[in-house]
Amino acid sequence: MADAPLTLKDLAKLDIATIKGVGDKRRESLAEVGIANVLELITTYPRRYVDRTNEAHVGDLVEGVETLVLVKVRSTRRVPLRTKRSMVTALVGDATGSLSLTFFNQPWRERQLKTDLEVAVFGKPELFRGKMQMVNPVVDIIGDKTGRIVPIYPQSEKANLSTWELASWVRNALDRAAPRTISDPLPPQIREGLKMIDRHAALNIIHFPESIVDKERARERLAFDELLRVQLVLVGRKHAFERDNTGIRHDMTGEMQQRFVAALPFPLTGAQRRVIDEVNADLAKPVPMHRLLQGDVGSGKTVVAVAAMLAAVQGGHQGALMAPTEVLAEQHFAGITRLLADLKVPDDGNLFGERQLRVELLTGRITGERRRELLADLASGGVDIAIGTHALIQEGVAFSSLGVVVIDEQHRFGVEQRAALRGKGAGEQHTTPDVLVMTATPIPRTAAMTVYGDLEVSVLDELPPGRTPIATMAVVEHDESGEPSGEAASMWAEVRKALDDGQQAFVVCPMIEESDKLEVAAAEEIYESLSKGELAKYKIGLLHGRMSSNDKDAVMTKFRDRKLMALVSTTVIEVGVDVPNATCMVVLDADRFGIAQLHQLRGRVGRGAIASRCWLVRKNPHVGAERVGALVESTDGFYLAEVDLELRGEGTLMSTAQKGASDLKLASLRRDEPLIRAAREVAFEIIGADPKLKQHRELAGEVNLLLAREEKEFLTKD
Ligand code: ADP
Ligand code: MG
Repeated sequence: MADAPLTLKDLAKLDIATIKGVGDKRRESLAEVGIANVLELITTYPRRYVDRTNEAHVGDLVEGVETLVLVKVRSTRRVPLRTKRSMVTALVGDATGSLSLTFFNQPWRERQLKTDLEVAVFGKPELFRGKMQMVNPVVDIIGDKTGRIVPIYPQSEKANLSTWELASWVRNALDRAAPRTISDPLPPQIREGLKMIDRHAALNIIHFPESIVDKERARERLAFDELLRVQLVLVGRKHAFERDNTGIRHDMTGEMQQRFVAALPFPLTGAQRRVIDEVNADLAKPVPMHRLLQGDVGSGKTVVAVAAMLAAVQGGHQGALMAPTEVLAEQHFAGITRLLADLKVPDDGNLFGERQLRVELLTGRITGERRRELLADLASGGVDIAIGTHALIQEGVAFSSLGVVVIDEQHRFGVEQRAALRGKGAGEQHTTPDVLVMTATPIPRTAAMTVYGDLEVSVLDELPPGRTPIATMAVVEHDESGEPSGEAASMWAEVRKALDDGQQAFVVCPMIEESDKLEVAAAEEIYESLSKGELAKYKIGLLHGRMSSNDKDAVMTKFRDRKLMALVSTTVIEVGVDVPNATCMVVLDADRFGIAQLHQLRGRVGRGAIASRCWLVRKNPHVGAERVGALVESTDGFYLAEVDLELRGEGTLMSTAQKGASDLKLASLRRDEPLIRAAREVAFEIIGADPKLKQHRELAGEVNLLLAREEKEFLTKD
């Protein structure tokens, strides 16, 4: 159909060289920034807009208030510095005054900022020697454009592409698409229900808006499309999973779960009660549960996990809990065995009508005869609850009837491992066990809807009462002039005081992402220096990822038994380690860690009755202050997750989860909650009526075109 509206697929087939003004050289430059076809060109959106009628003037600038001004370059010069850094200053101004710009380490600014060039400058003005100046502002070259609203495209100094070239190519592409128009894959009644503009209009407006209000409407439509594609995949996957798998309808009338809860030495929190109800409702259904449990460190996820596994045991099935490390599996085993000490299982074959519940540990360290016995008992149903590591999903491990699977600390396991454990349930009835994935890394709800959109999500948003909050302090080792600040010395004095009182401390060594080896070396050095210096009086231990698991365990056990008073460690202690007598944590080079990681680390203290303290140490006052400050301010994991998303942007979150990462150009997981909800609802509506998108070919085609292979498997799988 030569003149049917153009689909995204059609646009993707048009080489960028078909655009007027793009010759071989520009084509190469464009390829460098990932633009090879017309679709990629017109989905390269302006990163900002300059509204010429609504600009501040230089004379209006207020110290400390970020502002955008349109100015002309008056002069530029390079200032020689004695250090390795380079400095370029430019004097710019408009009719109301002048402003000086200072750029560090951007020597090319000298060439870029030619006299009389018109530029948009965005930054925070400071008063310096009585004059307004901005340091390292964002600068966009506008050139001699006349429109009221000027789109500013992402420019590339390296590929030598300017915003006005991009604008003219986009203009050319849209003009040439105009006769056929750009097709809209969204069914009209859905689009009208959402009161959204059509895609052809949206694409034109986003590039060349008449007003900022129009632009926002266009952005909403296009962002919605991005989110809808991701949701179609997630909702489709969920739908396929529920269609292809038969779950166990657990009998929820038995009493084991209630007896377990009644025997706990504490009442459940409201959140625990609510989440156990949510889980129970899933367990009673014929489709298998696939639920994510988010709960901050210490929120009491284990109790929920045990309650779920007991529901399985009650009906004659088994429960399994998989932890990411041996230390954690062992810790869970010890804790859960204690929680379940006196619990009996109904058993008709027994004279008393019941028997003792059997919980076993399976890790790579359990070998030989003991392992063979254990595997036989798992396969025969003699073991009710198995707790372990990856060993649980290895070849040769079979369950008699696996009913509920709990996976702890999910970010350590991949989707495949989840599937492998689920696969262990395929017994004679070919049922799929119910799966509960637990994570202590909270992510904001909107993000969860996207990143974990194929799972149901429960949240433990309440900590058990009586916790003493962890006091967190920011410490700077060296002051502005590079002298030791004294803060570190008083910190170590306080740590020594706690150790003298019989409490214990963790000292976390800098994370060195580039190299395991360097990280271990740094840890060893710190261990040596503390043994001779600040902590010379005490027995201290060293723990790092390159030690054998036997050695690691020996050290952990000594620490738990208080034979070591302080533990110098790399982030191997990040997850789950529980030593209530450890009340002090010192994190060195805290600015090298992310917020989520610092929060996890801090969760290793504050587990007992005594008030705990955490010191976050930075080498110098200039870096990482925001992140460390957030931790000083709050211990609420969900709040910190929001701050984290705010500071880092969502790129990191999406790329770790690899879901539609490449396709979210306009949508924001932080700000677009209503759009995310709308997209999810529409996806349910469409998939519910047409699971394989047979009546929605164009949408299916877009998903195929724009999302990575693993995201869209469900569409091609029968
Ligand atoms: P996490 O969510 O970090 O896995 P845990 O399940 O390990 O938390 O629980 C942390 C501690 O809180 C444990 O010592 C546990 O016994 C205790 N705990 C759990 N629920 C409650 C509650 N409702 N009231 C008091 N203490 C609780
Ligand atoms: Mg836990």
